[in-house]
Amino acid sequence: MPRDSSLTPLRQYGEFGLIDALRRILGEPSGDELLTGISDDAAVYRIEGDRVHVITTDMLVEGVHFDRLVMPMEYLGSKAIAVNVSDIAAMNAEPRYATIGLGLPENVFVEQIEEFYQGVRKACDLYGVQVVGGDTTAAARLTVSVTIVGEAAASRIVHRRGAVPGDLLCTTGELGGAYAGLRVLLEQRRELQEKGEDFAPDIDKYRYVIQRQLVPRARLDVVRDWAARGVRPHALIDLSDGIGSDLRHICLASGCGAELHLDALTIAPETYAVAEELGEDVGALALFGGEDYELLFAASHEEVGHMDSETCHVIGRCTTGTDVMVRMPNGELLPLERGGYEHFGAGNTS
Ligand SMILES: [Mg+2]
Repeated sequence: MPRDSSLTPLRQYGEFGLIDALRRILGEPSGDELLTGISDDAAVYRIEGDRVHVITTDMLVEGVHFDRLVMPMEYLGSKAIAVNVSDIAAMNAEPRYATIGLGLPENVFVEQIEEFYQGVRKACDLYGVQVVGGDTTAAARLTVSVTIVGEAAASRIVHRRGAVPGDLLCTTGELGGAYAGLRVLLEQRRELQEKGEDFAPDIDKYRYVIQRQLVPRARLDVVRDWAARGVRPHALIDLSDGIGSDLRHICLASGCGAELHLDALTIAPETYAVAEELGEDVGALALFGGEDYELLFAASHEEVGHMDSETCHVIGRCTTGTDVMVRMPNGELLPLERGGYEHFGAGNTS
């Protein structure tokens, strides 16, 4: 069918442009009980007194977010839960209940769907979540949509918007591994398609990065540790798209800039090894790779001092103004964007 030339291709808007367009149609959600609407990792609304509910939805689509050739169904089930729990953790809240929508093409079999739910079950056990409903339908591609409701005391909720100049910028865990894993899996898929049954993938060597890609872990453990210590960052987001994009969300929402130090990023030796093998800049993997599902947060020196140094890595600080910059090991200061970070050679994952 010929396309009407007055219509706008989606790519012209991009994800965030589309969200803005939809907000104009829906209007800004409001109400006394609504604490956070569309602009954060999850929406937050008050139940009664100091208790709030937190709600988020995330979708995984075959061919866009995963490839069944290299993604076992059990891992897909675990990942679908983990990425949603990660958004609840990014509000400093506890996940409680999940619903799962599944779009199933004809070439998915009952045993595979059971495997998927084994993965769901394992992740739910890990995070303390219960599946309470959902829907299944026929679909052209395997599609997974998970909604999770969490809860917290209103006073514990942390938004993207609370960072102030002078705050330390910190991350949990290791960065760039998930993207390194994706690159390894894509390479293995290519070889599998080329060599067919003769192909014996060298999984052991890449176990760590493949695991980072296929079964990411939401950092609910860190959020629980903060609650136990009585600490709370000023601003918080989970690293789904990579620091390059997610740090910008914190800075835009908070009205501040940032300067981070490339040397300070925590990168696993396995990720270094894959980057070297691929001829990629490991810093670019860590900054722009995405899907690490670690937490990025801004907190005062004092709060950081009360956090566990094992899971809190200082990578920079918030600044006045709006520039988001990265300090290179040679002292050079570059804008934190694909064009600014000159060594960037990796493609986007999303
Ligand atoms: Mg998020």
